[in-house]
Amino acid sequence: MACQACGHPAGRVKPGEIVAQLAHDAAMGQFDTLIKVVRPPYMPDGHHAEQIMKIEADIVVAGTGPVGLMAALSLGRAGFRVVLAGPPANLADRRTTALMKPSLDFLDELGLLDALRGDAAPLKVMRIADATQRLLRSPVVTFRASEIGEDYFGLNIPNRRLLAALDEAVSASKAVERAETTVSGWNIDDDIIEAGLADGRTVAAKLAVAADGRMSPAREAAGIAVSAGSTGQSALVLDFAHARPHNDTSTEFHTEDGPFTLVPLHGQRSSLVWVSRPRRAEELVRLSDEELSLVVEERMQSMLGRVTVEPGRQVFPLSSALPRRFAANRVALVGEAAHIFPPIGAQGLNLGVRDVESLLETAMRHSGDPGSPTALSANDRNRRPDILARSSAVNMLNRSLLSDMLPVQLMRTAGLSLLGAAPPLRALFMREGLRTGSGFGSVFRV
Ligand SMILES: Cc1cc2nc3c(=O)[nH]c(=O)nc-3n(C[C@H](O)[C@H](O)[C@H](O)COP(=O)(O)OP(=O)(O)OC[C@H]3O[C@@H](n4cnc5c(N)ncnc54)[C@H](O)[C@@H]3O)c2cc1C
Repeated sequence: MACQACGHPAGRVKPGEIVAQLAHDAAMGQFDTLIKVVRPPYMPDGHHAEQIMKIEADIVVAGTGPVGLMAALSLGRAGFRVVLAGPPANLADRRTTALMKPSLDFLDELGLLDALRGDAAPLKVMRIADATQRLLRSPVVTFRASEIGEDYFGLNIPNRRLLAALDEAVSASKAVERAETTVSGWNIDDDIIEAGLADGRTVAAKLAVAADGRMSPAREAAGIAVSAGSTGQSALVLDFAHARPHNDTSTEFHTEDGPFTLVPLHGQRSSLVWVSRPRRAEELVRLSDEELSLVVEERMQSMLGRVTVEPGRQVFPLSSALPRRFAANRVALVGEAAHIFPPIGAQGLNLGVRDVESLLETAMRHSGDPGSPTALSANDRNRRPDILARSSAVNMLNRSLLSDMLPVQLMRTAGLSLLGAAPPLRALFMREGLRTGSGFGSVFRV
């Protein structure tokens, strides 16, 4: 058989003929069949036939959110051959993320922190204010970084800046091959996992990192069950300018529908995460700039003076999810594939950074086969206490806001009052919030 257009012979291609074959394919306009990595002696039959393009790697990372980018970058730096598959980084994300000091240390190790500082604002004080209309209300609780000898708790960084910096670093990394396409299917064997890419290529690796977000197809392929559900809330996200200074203070107003959280940005600007019932969020997002500015100002009782909302608002439906395991069948879960809960107390991505740190540590300890059952069990064990503790604390606090039951209100009020009145307990809480195990863990450790 030969090509009908030009007579080029079809059939099995021998390794020595690859160059001629590619030149012919290129001349025929078949650039999509260019082969990145060919595993000799295998070549598919026929230059017009479907060509199997297989990339070999140590680790394949699925997902190009902040956690996937960090995972790929750090595993690549540790010496693994990494393929990162996912769409272009989402530079339209209008959220900002409060990253605490340990997460910032991790970004620093990746060489990214200095570039991000220019767009980041420090969080020196964090306040929780009860803005419910309920009978039982707790006093304002204020956490100051100076109380535990820190200059600030963390930095508030616009997601689009964080994602752009991570994306640039991945592009510059020689250890990470970027496949700008999604994973369309998984094939898992005892010794190897294969990711079928939507562009027709296949990546074979020892370990797959599921950084593919809340629906996580990789988690599903690994057969990991998950308990998940909507919280019946949505978060409206926007940035705004205000007339009075924020004094590097973040305030979380607790309302009957969820938290209304202000986080400082540079100058007299802040970001807002307003959690409410989905219908209310949809009403808010449709208001004019002037109307919305007034509503936001009223909600915070003009605490920061006159408010002017900036262009670019987004609404995020909220849910919570917890998988039964955090690694199994050559797949390790990180980020939102491993835990989802409402945005309270700036926990989500900070937890995601710790997922990556743990994964990096176990992968390095089991570098011969980072996806082996031993390596994955170690990773599952490492992550379980931290993820379970943070998820249940945040979900419990969120449910206590939504619940009208008096005993639940009593517990929440008592807890916050105790924190407000007892500086040592507050200090313990702050240390635990910053570095897991350094607060409560240090007290209960024997
Ligand atoms: C309103 C709001 C405010 C928040 N604020 C904070 C905060 O202040 N501090 C904090 O620590 N956390 C915060 N969080 C949580 C934080 O945003 C998340 O933890 C974080 O975005 C999760 O990142 P991720 O990379 O795991 O997931 P995602 O960002 O969802 O990324 C998943 C990626 O996987 C890709 N993908 C999906 N399917 C496939 C596939 N088949 N193949 C390849 N790729 C695929 C997607 O395209 C996407 O790129 C907030 C969350 C919300 C909703």
